[in-house]
Amino acid sequence: MEKLYEGKSKIVYEGEEPGTCIIKYKDTATAGNGVKKEDLPGKGKLNAEISNIIFNHLMENGVKTHLLKVIDDTTVLAKKADIVMVEVIVRNVAAGSFSKKYGVPEGSPLKNTVVEFSYKSDEYGDPMINDSQITAIGIATQEELDEMKAAALKVNDLMVEMFSKAGIRLIDFKLEFGRADGELLLCDEISPDSCRFWDAKTNEKLDKDRFRRDLGNVLGGYSDVLARIKG
Ligand code: UDP
Repeated sequence: MEKLYEGKSKIVYEGEEPGTCIIKYKDTATAGNGVKKEDLPGKGKLNAEISNIIFNHLMENGVKTHLLKVIDDTTVLAKKADIVMVEVIVRNVAAGSFSKKYGVPEGSPLKNTVVEFSYKSDEYGDPMINDSQITAIGIATQEELDEMKAAALKVNDLMVEMFSKAGIRLIDFKLEFGRADGELLLCDEISPDSCRFWDAKTNEKLDKDRFRRDLGNVLGGYSDVLARIKG
């Protein structure tokens, strides 16, 4: 298989059918723009399964995504898309960089859902970027930004409901979109690597903050998320 791209947590290969690619989840965990790096055997399989469950639920509810087929427990077939170079971040509760930047204690409820964009650039450290900056540089059009925001809010509604049934609070998450056949598709993954998930009763962290903050038992948190959404 021809390798198209290798990122921090996934490898993308050319698919057999034109316009498709094969995405393989890796066991590598990274944080702080790759400064902290560790192999966590089994992480790829957990993230793939969690992400596939979430993507299938979103697709059943009308969200357009790149996912075509699950190949095996760490590999999926997806539509090849031209990734929009912004990360779309949705926040229901203050945490992480938002808390640090604005002095809002972690866990504070927010009066409205926050949607923000970061420029996808390891070189510049994924800086936050606003609509007029994005359109000025030509990263995306205003129509695309509006569509991504609306899709992100819909994903948030569907995921808040899904996770609340599983006894998990969805604190915040990151989405990526891509262009394929003239439309925007939800791409990448949705997993404990890209979301903050807190236990609804204890507020215990079940996500990548366990790795970022050296809380231990990283994959215990991920397995717990999977077990709960599988029901
Ligand atoms: N996030 C991500 N990739 C990034 C940056 C953030 O998946 O490159 C996710 C992160 O896991 C969290 C949400 O986006 O669920 C908000 O992250 P935040 O801006 O608070 O940054 P952090 O504190 O993780 O640096």
